[in-house]
Amino acid sequence: MRVRKWYDPVARQWLAAQFANAGEIHLIVDGTKADFAHQLLMVSMAYHKRAVPIAWMWVKHIREHGTGSKQLALLSYVRTLIPGGAIVILVRDAEFGSAKVLKQLDCWHWFYVPRQKTGMGVGLKGQSDWKPFGSFAQKAGRTAAPVDPRHTTQVCSGCGRIVEKDPHTRVHDCPHCGLNISRDLNAAINILTHGLASLDPVVIES
Ligand SMILES: [Zn+2]
Repeated sequence: MRVRKWYDPVARQWLAAQFANAGEIHLIVDGTKADFAHQLLMVSMAYHKRAVPIAWMWVKHIREHGTGSKQLALLSYVRTLIPGGAIVILVRDAEFGSAKVLKQLDCWHWFYVPRQKTGMGVGLKGQSDWKPFGSFAQKAGRTAAPVDPRHTTQVCSGCGRIVEKDPHTRVHDCPHCGLNISRDLNAAINILTHGLASLDPVVIES
């Protein structure tokens, strides 16, 4: 909490700068498993294909219900840092999709780009298989951008080159550009970049 106090103005400045530049703010929610009982829940701002930390919180990932409340608390805090009138686009992992959280995002009129995983009832084989997901999102009154998830973990979000890793490698460590971030965060940034590109007319500046 003390860290949050001094970091607060820093985070506000980042967010205000992005709002001034782009008119909207691009956030990423990322949960990094620290050990068997704890998770670092992080909200970052996507900036020049990097992730700038805005706020974070340790959670015990024992029950989904508990983490849903924590996510909401963290996002509510982040919302207080965001300049009025800013459009907020949030990339989140599939596991951050508790109904409570999504409902709140809707109330705030935040857009989100969900990161899809296999086994979520959405086919991943070809472009046409994305249709059910798109229509689902439309029904819910949200903007969703289907993104092919197959390459998002291997491609470096910093330089665009392929960095091969097996499913157990949790860190994205790029030998080409030196980008070192969590595997999930790297994938989330790729998805955000692709998702925004397909949303038109908004593209992250690079
Ligand atoms: Zn790289």
